[in-house]
Amino acid sequence: MLRCSVCGSTYDEAALPWRCACGAPLDWVIGAGVRTPDDLSGRPASLWRYREVLPCGNDDGCGPVSLGEGMTPLVRAAWDGAEILWKLDFLCPTGSYKDRGASVLMSRLRDLGVRDIIEDSSGNAGAAMAAYSARAGVRCRIFVPDYTSEGKCVQISSYGAELVRVAGSREDTTAAAERAAQTEGTYYASHNWSPYFAHGVKTLAYELVEELGGAVPDSVIVPAGQGSLVLGCDHAFSEMLASGRIAKRPRIYAVQAAHCAPLYRAFSDGSQEPATIEKHETIAEGISSALPVRGRQVLAAVRRSGGAVLTVDEDEIAPGCFRLARLGLYVEPTSSVVGAAVSRLLKTGAIRPDERTAAVLTGTGLKATDKILHLAERNEGGRPTHG
Ligand SMILES: [Zn+2]
Repeated sequence: MLRCSVCGSTYDEAALPWRCACGAPLDWVIGAGVRTPDDLSGRPASLWRYREVLPCGNDDGCGPVSLGEGMTPLVRAAWDGAEILWKLDFLCPTGSYKDRGASVLMSRLRDLGVRDIIEDSSGNAGAAMAAYSARAGVRCRIFVPDYTSEGKCVQISSYGAELVRVAGSREDTTAAAERAAQTEGTYYASHNWSPYFAHGVKTLAYELVEELGGAVPDSVIVPAGQGSLVLGCDHAFSEMLASGRIAKRPRIYAVQAAHCAPLYRAFSDGSQEPATIEKHETIAEGISSALPVRGRQVLAAVRRSGGAVLTVDEDEIAPGCFRLARLGLYVEPTSSVVGAAVSRLLKTGAIRPDERTAAVLTGTGLKATDKILHLAERNEGGRPTHG
């Protein structure tokens, strides 16, 4: 069953609504107290080991659309005097954590008989949806702004997806995708609107607890644009608390770029809704979302956790990127905001060195060579040396 996050109206999943008649996002409703078995040995080494808590994966006739996503390494490395648990989610099949959501979303859609989807994304989500559509044998059209870098377009179209370039802003691209999805026979599989996507993402938090031998981190630090990682962590920790698997809720710290921070502004102002902001260009393009469609839920989740939304400045992002690389962790600038955030949170005392802190690294640096080179050229300290 699907339920509206604002007015509470309920919908049958088979009717395939992508949002409520009132205009708000829909949530997939999980059964009360559902939990995964204590012993997961013999389960696949992918997020599908947690099938009991996923919208698709039980004995309901559907098999998962999987490329082995999830079960990413958790690596301990020192940072400003603390030992941080770095979750290497950039090691998913298409190079970002979005594969978690795409696997679960595509599995559910295939089970519901969807054969043709439309998505709009200028980056990692588009690549993930294209890859999992290929795996599922589903026709996929990805709408991107016409300024999207060639590298991303090549990855998306290599998977066999049809690329539709839209002139104008990112918001114009979304509007074009929504219009096209009104055609009979296709489904608007927007990862931001999807009631299933964040339930794929939540498996990251299930993994953290499993990898820590049943212990919970004191806090989890994630980049936040639309906020699907915040929602995923919130789903997982809420479910694990309700089912008695864990005894306390970790604090969630959501990191935005100061140049595009509608969630930070709202959090600071005590507002329930994302703030209206003027967006400036940021190197952290993956979290450059001026209009987070589930912003209300993201803000509530952060507050419920006792964490916070914080921002990092453009000149903090490059040092974070190269410091992570010096630890062997080559991630895109969007991911490296968590490095700067860990430093800030340690400095202010929001997190302590003796606490268990997990930080999620979301996207590989291999997809952002041009951006990282640009950062290196601007930053003497980070300039790569050759020979
Ligand atoms: Zn509604």
